[in-house]
Amino acid sequence: MSRVYNFSAGPAALPTEVLEQAQAEMLEWNGSGMSVMEMSHRGKDYMSIAAKAEADLRQLMTIPDNYKVLFLQGGASSQFAMVPINLLNGKKSADYILTGQWSKKAVAEAKRYCDVNLVADTTDSKFTTVPDAASLKFDPDAAYVHYTPNETIAGVEFPYIPDTGDVPLVADMSSTILSRHIDVSKFGVIYAGAQKNIGPAGLTIVIIREDLIGTADPAMPVMLDYKTHADNDSMYNTPPTYSWYMAGLVFARGLKLGGMNAIEKVNQRKAEKLYKAIDDSVFYSNPVATNCRSRMNVPFILANADLDSAFIEQAAANGLVTLKGHRSVGGMRASIYNAMPEEGVDALIAFMQEFERGNA
Ligand code: PMP
Repeated sequence: MSRVYNFSAGPAALPTEVLEQAQAEMLEWNGSGMSVMEMSHRGKDYMSIAAKAEADLRQLMTIPDNYKVLFLQGGASSQFAMVPINLLNGKKSADYILTGQWSKKAVAEAKRYCDVNLVADTTDSKFTTVPDAASLKFDPDAAYVHYTPNETIAGVEFPYIPDTGDVPLVADMSSTILSRHIDVSKFGVIYAGAQKNIGPAGLTIVIIREDLIGTADPAMPVMLDYKTHADNDSMYNTPPTYSWYMAGLVFARGLKLGGMNAIEKVNQRKAEKLYKAIDDSVFYSNPVATNCRSRMNVPFILANADLDSAFIEQAAANGLVTLKGHRSVGGMRASIYNAMPEEGVDALIAFMQEFERGNA
């Protein structure tokens, strides 16, 4: 068996030691006589798995006590609707910062429920910039402000947290959660699909300030009401039990690695060396403004697009896979989430340099 370095944007690589532990526990978890997948979500064993996962995530992210952590399904895409359904609370409009394809989708969904006020829109830069913090003028009467701290497709990441005053800040952290330390208390709602830095697909994490729970539009399905899930410890219905368990293994590993500051340091180093390799060459380029380059998703374009397929083929032959860029950007994209070891980034850089020497 040989595991490749998988640069997929998501579902993404999982830490090998997490997969090994899951493998060791596959047939029987901790003397229970069964796999985690076969357990009742209401049984003692599973409840302990679920509670530990939440406790470890709380410790890892230093989540304050007045926030609930919800383990849901439906992906980040469902949150595009659940956010307005729950947070409008009688208000007519919400502020959105549009910096890429994912915030665009969030905007389109919100428009089904309210007026959307675009506080900033970086479409004209082809999503290679973020707005200056000082240029953001929020509506004090908006129900909330929504933004996407890391845009997975163009590889654009906010270097700051917008200051929205008393208006709750909502963040789609799908592709940046657990990559760096963040001050959770600055946010009203944080949500993320699990399939990048958390665990397998099928689980969606929502971290929500308690005072924002309980104001959902009563005409909406109970499954879309945060209160339903908060009141039932995310077990109103059957949760994605196995993904939750796997996420727990990832959180425990994060703590073992030394927590968010240690993880962030490695991520910073990985991103810096990859961007340096790109910037030092005339063969590769990254179109994103240097102040907002993503630490997680690194797109790079070959000067000669005719070489794209050779690059992808030869990279794969060297054990470096899923590097093809998103069709809207072209070129390559290396997603270097927490599970990508630094040696994987080193191997990619070495391959890029070798490919350049052979084709420049
Ligand atoms: N937001 C961002 C930033 C994403 O990267 C993605 C998925 N790649 C989504 C939302 C959609 O997530 P899901 O597939 O979990 O609905």
